[in-house]
Order: sequence, then structure tokens, then C-alpha cells
Amino acid sequence: MIADRINRVQESGTMKMKELASKLKEEGKKVISFTVGEPDFGTPKHIVDAAIDALNAGMTKYINAPGLPELREAIAEKSRTENNIPCDKSNVLVTPTKHAIFQSLFATVNPGDEVLLPDPSWVTYFACISFAEGKAVPVPLLEENEFRMTPETVAEKITPKSKVLMMNSPSNPCGSVYTEEDIKGIADLAIDHDLIVVTDEVYERIVFDGAKHLSIASLPGMAERTITVNGFSKTYAMTGWRLGWLIADKPFFKAINKIQQHTITHAPTFIQKAGVVALTGPTTDLDMMVNEFQKRRDIVDQFIKETPGASAPRPRGAFYALMKFDADMSDQDMAMHILNESSVLTTPGSAFGDMGKGHLRISFATSTEEVKKGMAGIKSALEKL
Ligand code: GLU
Repeated sequence: MIADRINRVQESGTMKMKELASKLKEEGKKVISFTVGEPDFGTPKHIVDAAIDALNAGMTKYINAPGLPELREAIAEKSRTENNIPCDKSNVLVTPTKHAIFQSLFATVNPGDEVLLPDPSWVTYFACISFAEGKAVPVPLLEENEFRMTPETVAEKITPKSKVLMMNSPSNPCGSVYTEEDIKGIADLAIDHDLIVVTDEVYERIVFDGAKHLSIASLPGMAERTITVNGFSKTYAMTGWRLGWLIADKPFFKAINKIQQHTITHAPTFIQKAGVVALTGPTTDLDMMVNEFQKRRDIVDQFIKETPGASAPRPRGAFYALMKFDADMSDQDMAMHILNESSVLTTPGSAFGDMGKGHLRISFATSTEEVKKGMAGIKSALEKL
């Protein structure tokens, strides 16, 4: 009854754990959820007010599929000045981030084309490649490389069928931030092998210890082969608003716009107005949130170091640690053991690809108090083994 292209795809491992956390909370159980990557902060008030004002001003009608001209202009301006991406408003399409990834792959991948992607990587990349009937070619992320793809690990997986390379720095689920050298080397490979790059930069502002984010599309010869995906969810604590964007060269833009016209039409009009205010308004809230995430990262990192049999590279960005454990059980069983012993929920690493097996993803986008309690719970559950 159900189409093969859907049967091939697993339920989202991140959403599944989020649903379990919600169910346990509804049942009145006290659980600490390190599952979904969602900032615990509220959306800054000036952004909320902008959406209310836009609704009251009647911004409730259709607009053109690529988005509100004012928002496309603000995104282009931000991308030129902060990310050095050569673009203008005509390259910007406003859409929820997850849909941007889906549309980018749907527009570029033919059945059987190979799509290189980091392993582990966010669950949705595998699903979107499969929806487009491409073949996912995982590039293993090694702990010794602090969970980053390198030009060498990418080069090993390139074949004549390679069409698209997916990038994600800062990384979900690893918390790694790629170096300039990695990104330049990977860009050279993309040019040499005529690859399209789809880069998810949704965590770009959440970097620690003075690390710098580099957009691959800013490098010479890359803007014409790169689709840059970004969004408001993580940076501005706007997860429920479903607002993001992509930047693409004309041929990609035109193809993707067809998908947008025939699927969601456009992102909600009044929400796009709030997006303008988010991008052009004060950054005080944003700076506060990143500082908080860095403090929580320190707590998580310290606990992992003190936990027998556990290890993880120190997260450099995003709000995830991918913790390896040394025990004779699957990551699903380990997640259940920690839940039963300490009422802490994590996401089993195998949801993010084969290389995630034997790991748990810890999302530390929750309050400092919960991070402390939850990490103590993980430590004591591992000590009991
Ligand atoms: N990207 C977030 C996560 O990995 C949100 C959940 C999702 O959409 O997968 O937890």
C-alpha cells in the first residue's frame, strides 16, 4: 500500500526520541531530555512582536514563492557581509531549513547518483537522499580527526558517479567545526570532480573558543556549484517558526523554485516579516545564548572526561556532543539503560549512520541545571555497569 520510497526510509531518530520525551513528561514522569536540538530559550521579544505586528498589519496573503523581497534582500546582505558569499536577492529562496535540504537534493540528484555525506550526520540527510532516489555514500568521521571530514577522507569515496557532496559545519550530531584547511581542500576536490555542494550551515553562529565559521560558497569557483542552507531555528531560538533559506546559483534556484511553487508555495508571510527583524535587529540575545551554550559545553565535556569508559572530542560548535561508550551493548540499549537508571534521555548514535553506532548524542541546548543533573545521571548509569 505504501510507496517503496517511503518504506525505504526510517522514522526520524531525533523526532522519535523527542516524542518519547514528550510522552514520558505527559505521563507525569520527571525526565531530563538531551534529545532534540532545540534551544531552551524563548524567541527574543522583538522578533515575536514583529510577527504580531505583521499579522495585525494584514500580512496574511500569498506572496511570490521565493519569499518576501525585504527578507530576501536582508538574507543576501547578511550572506555577502558576514559569509562573503557572492549573491544577491535573486539567489535567495526562503523556506524551512529541512525543506531547503529536501529541495536541494530533489532538484539535483537523479536516481543512482552518488551523494557523499558525513557519517555520522543528521538523520534527515539520509532520508532526503533516499527520497531523491540517490545513493548515499558515507564519508566516515573519525574521532582522531575530531569528527571532521578531511580532503583525504572525502577523496577516498569519490567515484565517477559522485554528483553531490553534503557538508555540515558546525556539525550535528558531532559538534565539530571544520578548519579552513579542510574546507579549502574539500572545495578543490569539488571543483576537480565537478561536484555540487549542499552545505547546511544552520549552526554557523554557535561556535566556541573563538572558532570561525567559513562558508564554502565564499571560496573562488564555489558559489556557482554550492547551495548554502541556513535558518533561524537555532540562532534565534525560533524552532517552531519553521523559517530558513537557501542561496543558490540561477539554474539551481530556478529548479528549486519549481518545487517550492508546487509544494509549500512559500513560507508564511507574517513569519517572514519577523525574519527581517531577527536578521537586522539587536544581537544581544544571540550573544547571550552562545555564551550559555559554551558554559554548558564545558560542563558536558568535563563530565564525559570524568566518566569511566566514555569519550568524545570537545565540541567546538552547535550544541551536541557525540559520546562513545565502552560497554557490550547497543546504543539503543544504552540509551534505555540510562533512561531507566537516571531518567535521562539521549539519542542513540546509530540513528545518525553506521559510524554513530556505540555512541549517544547529547543535546545540551537545555538549562544549565538540567545539563548538570543529566550528565551526573549519565555518569552514574555508566558506573553501575
Ligand atoms: N535538527 C534537530 C535535531 O537534530 C531537530 C530535530 C529534527 O528536525 O531532526 O535534533
